[in-house]
Amino acid sequence: MASLKMAINLTLGPALGYTSRSQQARVMTESWVASHFFCPNCGDFPLKKYPNNQPVADFVCGKCNEDYELKSKQGVFGSKMVDGGYQTMMDRLAGSRNPNFLLLNYTQSCQVSDFCIVPKHFIVPDLIEKRKPLAATARRAGWIGCNVLLSRIPESGKIFFVRQSDVLQKRLVRQRWERTLFLRDFSEEKKGWLLDTMNCVERLGRNTFSLADVYGFEAELAEKYPRNNHVRDKLRQQLQVLRKKGYVDFVGRGQYRLRQP
Ligand SMILES: [Zn+2]
Repeated sequence: MASLKMAINLTLGPALGYTSRSQQARVMTESWVASHFFCPNCGDFPLKKYPNNQPVADFVCGKCNEDYELKSKQGVFGSKMVDGGYQTMMDRLAGSRNPNFLLLNYTQSCQVSDFCIVPKHFIVPDLIEKRKPLAATARRAGWIGCNVLLSRIPESGKIFFVRQSDVLQKRLVRQRWERTLFLRDFSEEKKGWLLDTMNCVERLGRNTFSLADVYGFEAELAEKYPRNNHVRDKLRQQLQVLRKKGYVDFVGRGQYRLRQP
């Protein structure tokens, strides 16, 4: 196990010569990702670093072209993560080269505590919260930033490579990535209902559940979709889709089982 623990130390080496702490942190976390992380989509290693200040993303896979954007923080992210401009983010979500997020947390002593991938098909407008415009006295008066509501991402959309300082096997990371790739086949509108249903199923916190359990979220979803009068029908349809895609199995007598990767 010692070698695994070694692999989660950020090293100052590549950041020597930078004086600002935030730049040092950026260089150290980027260098850690570049030397330890593989592409979860195809398994290729290492990822290629884009030149700095590239607006698209931070890393790209040289084999399958998947883009990754690194967000790192000392401590934990909590339920929301501060990001850049609101409109820029919304435009990006509507585009075709929206990157996957890599969320990295490290401790005060520069150890990677958690590192997870949020596949781009989980990053939907629903997660983006508009912040208040900057005050008239600010240098960029009127500018509107955004928060990413991490708490709204289903558990299956947070694929850990390092969790509580434990490094997970590459095979497991890739299986978890593949498990939800089917979401890329759906339009934004259809995906919204699927993600909501996945969230409900996962929030039940059980492997086996009934249709009635999922209907328990009816009121919450009716509030979210006030123009839809058929929430139960919608939920039932989504479960059928999730079953077809291998995310849940039907085990008979109205019971479903969450398929584990
Ligand atoms: Zn790849």
